[in-house]
Amino acid sequence: MTEHHTTTDAGIPAPSDDESLTVGPDGPILLQDHYLIEQMAMFNRERIPERQPHAKGGGAYGRFEVTADVTRYTRAAVFAPGARTETLTRFSTVAGERGSPDTWRDPRGFATKFYTSEGNFDMVGNNTPIFFLRDPLKFQHFIRSQKRRAANNLRDHNMQWDFWTLSPESAHQVTWLMGDRGIPKSWRQMNGYSSHTYSWINAAGEIFWVKYHFISDQGVECLTQDEADRLAGVDADYHQRDLYDAIERGEHPSWTLKMQIMPFEEAKTYRYNPFDLTKVWPHGDYPLIDVGKLTLDRNVTDYHSEIEQAAFQPNNTVPGTGLSPDKMLLARGFSYADAHRARIGTNYSQLPVNAPKVEVHSYSKDGAMRFVNATDPVYAPNSMGGPKADPARAAEVRWYSDGDMVRAAYTLRPDDDDFSQARTLVRDVLDDDERKRLAANIIGHVSAGVTEPVLSRVFEYWHNVDPDLGSAVEAGVRANLA
Ligand code: NDP
Repeated sequence: MTEHHTTTDAGIPAPSDDESLTVGPDGPILLQDHYLIEQMAMFNRERIPERQPHAKGGGAYGRFEVTADVTRYTRAAVFAPGARTETLTRFSTVAGERGSPDTWRDPRGFATKFYTSEGNFDMVGNNTPIFFLRDPLKFQHFIRSQKRRAANNLRDHNMQWDFWTLSPESAHQVTWLMGDRGIPKSWRQMNGYSSHTYSWINAAGEIFWVKYHFISDQGVECLTQDEADRLAGVDADYHQRDLYDAIERGEHPSWTLKMQIMPFEEAKTYRYNPFDLTKVWPHGDYPLIDVGKLTLDRNVTDYHSEIEQAAFQPNNTVPGTGLSPDKMLLARGFSYADAHRARIGTNYSQLPVNAPKVEVHSYSKDGAMRFVNATDPVYAPNSMGGPKADPARAAEVRWYSDGDMVRAAYTLRPDDDDFSQARTLVRDVLDDDERKRLAANIIGHVSAGVTEPVLSRVFEYWHNVDPDLGSAVEAGVRANLA
């Protein structure tokens, strides 16, 4: 390492690393000791607000390489045959605060920014293919119910199950969460899913509905509740450490990107509402199609600048990719960018980690901490040769809807109900040992603080998912509470 003199933030050589300026060795400190004042002032301002939610996380840089030809479905350069794109991925828990243990039972965020030749493409997913809710009006309430009570500032299982059992659309995700995959062994050993349905658009302008699946090449491995509880005590940063150390050792984790692709017209008659975030598309209906490989190969230098200030937003969709009528996704399209403006600042997208690798020709201007110069003309339309929007992009935003303005649930399809996909998971996907651990995890969680009237609803909820599981949960909880 080269030896440098310490400087102030203005680059001026600092007078001392350890003695402040005083009148005589025992005298008072002087206000003109700018270096001391600067150090104290900067320290007081080191923290920015943590994310609400997904506060605790970590990540790394990497690359995405396309290994197949999906040009039939999308014209996006990032998915063109052989394309290679730099990436940044961040993993996180959802409900815990910045210092909370990595091994708490929770879904994990799995967000990747692709620095593509057509601007940044952000895939802001989770390690589960579904979510607790299908309407964004409930999201804020859901997160509050998973965090802390007003009076005692404690997390509260009664509050969590109260919300879940009053929101039966949560059953599929709660079943997943209480199963083995609710606590991954490491971030390297979990899958990432878009969860939402998005769109792809090909060169001919045809739209396809798509779901992204990043399947771990390390295999999926999980922790038992006992292992996770022990690790929460001895190493709260277990997952962060695992990823960082693996990359330092040269073990670069990778995920194979596979897509489910639904032709546009099929969405109208598919047996499930394909935009309902609480449902998967069964693989038998829409098999996984290989696209490419995401590899994480470089740790960040500065966690704060490159991870804490990293800003992912689902509305960053590049040409050939787009959103869908999923109500949760459309709301996220607003809320993520708004969260970054509130938490990091208006010009968060100019920070190096967030800035695209392509030139920016936006008419956005001014605001706090802007450091990239605006250039004339500063308005459009103009007659001075300023940038002009691409009409081909306007043609991409195209799906159909009509009707009165309503506040209503999605129209139900023949197979739509809140419990059947959860039941399939319990009965057809899990084996006997996994089912036993699922029941034990639910019993342990519910026995820790759930009281009437919520308790009776918990038993009903699990009977609806699967009568055998419901009976096991009820017997186990009643025995614990007896
Ligand atoms: P399949 O039999 O084709 O696939 C079941 C999938 O379940 C597996 O591919 C695996 O997903 C996942 N899985 C395996 N073990 C667990 C576990 N312990 N907890 C959670 N997921 C697990 O089934 P279908 O596609 O017909 O779906 C049946 C059920 O499987 C669904 O109701 C859903 O609960 C679950 N599932 C479905 C997915 C989908 O996108 N269709 C994705 C994941 C789960 P993976 O290969 O992604 O690791």
